[in-house]
Amino acid sequence: MTSDLVHHGESFDGTPLGFATKSIHLGNGVDAETGAIRRPITLANAYALPYDPSDINWSSSDVNLYTRNGHPNQRYLEAKLANLEGTEDAVVLASGVAALAATFTTLLNRGDHAIFSDTTYIAAYRLLNQILPEKYGIETSIVDTSDPKNIEDAIRPNTKLVHIETPANPTLKVTDIEAAAKLAHDAGALLSVDNTFNSPFNVRPADLGADVVIESLTKYINGHGDALGGAIATCKELTDQIRFTYQVNYGGIISPFNAWLINRGSVTLPLRMRQHNASALAIAKHLESLPQVRFVAYPGLESHPHHDVAARQLARPDAGFGGVLSFGLDTDHDGHNRFVSKLNVITSAVSLGHDESLIVFLGEDDERQYLYPEEFHRGFFRLAVGLEDTDDLIRDIDHALAESEL
Ligand SMILES: *Cc1c(COP(=O)(O)O)cnc(C)c1O
Repeated sequence: MTSDLVHHGESFDGTPLGFATKSIHLGNGVDAETGAIRRPITLANAYALPYDPSDINWSSSDVNLYTRNGHPNQRYLEAKLANLEGTEDAVVLASGVAALAATFTTLLNRGDHAIFSDTTYIAAYRLLNQILPEKYGIETSIVDTSDPKNIEDAIRPNTKLVHIETPANPTLKVTDIEAAAKLAHDAGALLSVDNTFNSPFNVRPADLGADVVIESLTKYINGHGDALGGAIATCKELTDQIRFTYQVNYGGIISPFNAWLINRGSVTLPLRMRQHNASALAIAKHLESLPQVRFVAYPGLESHPHHDVAARQLARPDAGFGGVLSFGLDTDHDGHNRFVSKLNVITSAVSLGHDESLIVFLGEDDERQYLYPEEFHRGFFRLAVGLEDTDDLIRDIDHALAESEL
């Protein structure tokens, strides 16, 4: 019988449990009422109050009170994620963007300054480049954080946060987390890392000095393309603040059903990541060998400018470089679209980290095009390699190239 020690991620004999064992058992337990060996989904909005409720703090997140304040399925997932990320605590919110917004709005006050990567998820870019400066008087600098010198040069006396995304969506630029953490800490600032493209199986930013780790759970951690969620893994002092501000008072809570789905999906995270890593590397190498392909950006390729940093940051010997790569064809706008229309296995849709492979053509007029490396300016694809047979994916690409006469 799985012991309570294992359900809490603790060793039963002195040797630490492995990532797969923890992905399966953490946050699970025997249901006290039915004896079920799976914890149930609790869909109630409210919980019974004690005889005298007058002492209750209505903004509290640590008792079952009202689902927006926090709920059991959220807490089971939080316990697992904090352990897998190696942080004291984690908060799970409604989406990856809610996790980003919660981090920025909780950590930054009027007059503070933040530095952030020149390639980030589009909502992070809009929040930091426009919404927070315009509405809340927060100063921000956008820099190419893949060179730590640029972070150093951008630091101001009021810098409170350095936010990096690595590998960055969609340029796949990699930032040295340890170097960024040192620069942030020397300046009295915190480092937050959007680790969505890696998942904690491949990279654990907290081990490398990051103060806050953000994951869009929608992607690899759920892994099945059927629920949105976001996590912030950090110390308890910050998770308490985030729960009070963003969860209870801004209302960014995840639904119990989505928390349950993500918890269930996360059970197979290590198995899935190994397959995503292996297939993406094989496909990146294949694409690199094709004459029709103008460039391939994938940190696992030796041709990637930050391959060494990416390799050094891996969390375990069987980790890899994730399932997302970008590439461009030696063709025009219509040629790119024609290629996608001839694919049979790979689906044209946004998102990543799903079981199925997804491709999106990011044309020549993305609003952040001016920040991308030059090879991205003629339009490019982001390919999120799924869990299909690698050979089927490679044949699908070759067949579509032939059919679209490229
Ligand atoms: C998808 C994504 C997000 C946003 O996550 P949602 O769950 O869609 O809100 C944030 N960061 C990265 C790197 C992403 O790929």
